[in-house]
Amino acid sequence: MGRYFKNIFDAVRTILIGMRITARHLFTPSVTIQYPDVKLKLPARARNRLYVNMDDCIGCDQCSMACPVNCITIETIKSTSDVDLGVTSVGSKKRLYVPVFDIDIAKCCYCGLCVYPCPTECIKMTEVFEFSEYERENLIYNFATMTPAEVDDAKRKLAASESTAATKPAPASRGTNS
Ligand code: SF4
Ligand code: SF4
Repeated sequence: MGRYFKNIFDAVRTILIGMRITARHLFTPSVTIQYPDVKLKLPARARNRLYVNMDDCIGCDQCSMACPVNCITIETIKSTSDVDLGVTSVGSKKRLYVPVFDIDIAKCCYCGLCVYPCPTECIKMTEVFEFSEYERENLIYNFATMTPAEVDDAKRKLAASESTAATKPAPASRGTNS
């Protein structure tokens, strides 16, 4: 008989313990948000989708070399002496055209290693984290802004400049052996 009442007591006691936790949560503010209508504020250094401001890119390739998964592809063309590509917003002289600047964001592991070495701070993390796509190729972002005609023009000028330099006579040697 004693065991019978002890079992009833244990059952009631354990139910009350469980209900105490439930009751406590009834009066705790909810942490659930109605995503995507409501979004949490991201931490200041959150790593999300990358963006490249091509106006400030000098084509130095440092971001690409730092990338551990080789998802940044950069191609450059040397500018000729008659062309002034201007300076970046931090005052770095631009000497290279950047006809190709692709980031395969499907391969990106959001390590941020490309951001730190950039001398002009033009590659950065944005606050955009919702960018799913149906096709993988849509995850290759092309940041270069040159048109095909501009690329052709830059290549043609460089080829002409190199060919002129090649046909110039070599400067006379200063010293003689005799
Ligand atoms: S965040 Fe990391 S993986 Fe992504 S492009 Fe930059 S270096 Fe490469
Ligand atoms: S490190 Fe910066 S400036 Fe250099 S190629 Fe990358 S984005 Fe351009």
